Amino acid sequence: MKKEVEQVIQAARELIQQRYQKDGHHFVVAAALLTYNGNLYTGLNLGTTQPSVAMCAETSAIARAVMAEEDMKIKLIAVARDKEAYLVSPCGRCREFIADYGDKNTLVVVPADNDKGYDVRKISDLLPVKYEKKCQ
Ligand SMILES: [Zn+2]
Repeated sequence: MKKEVEQVIQAARELIQQRYQKDGHHFVVAAALLTYNGNLYTGLNLGTTQPSVAMCAETSAIARAVMAEEDMKIKLIAVARDKEAYLVSPCGRCREFIADYGDKNTLVVVPADNDKGYDVRKISDLLPVKYEKKCQ
């Protein structure tokens, strides 16, 4: 698993370092995910000139994976931002996407609580009470 974690971190970091662009399309975040089928997909945040109209990097990576694999499930995901390629946690909206396109064992790379390095957590720990359609 450690090799896979390093693989997704490196992919996210390399992508944002290559494509970082603060103006124009505002590429400031990259995500990389590994599916249970063993394939790696990356995505960039998609900014627009209207600041409230944007798409997170995680969702663009998920969209690429869904288009490529009918039975896609996220095994592991990492997110990096800015030229320095800092690792960051997915936002709340993306946690819903990750939970829906993964399973309870899907892993997410997050900054460590002690600010040294990173941790790997289950999405079910990051989003313990996800949105459900059925509730009375
Ligand atoms: Zn997000």
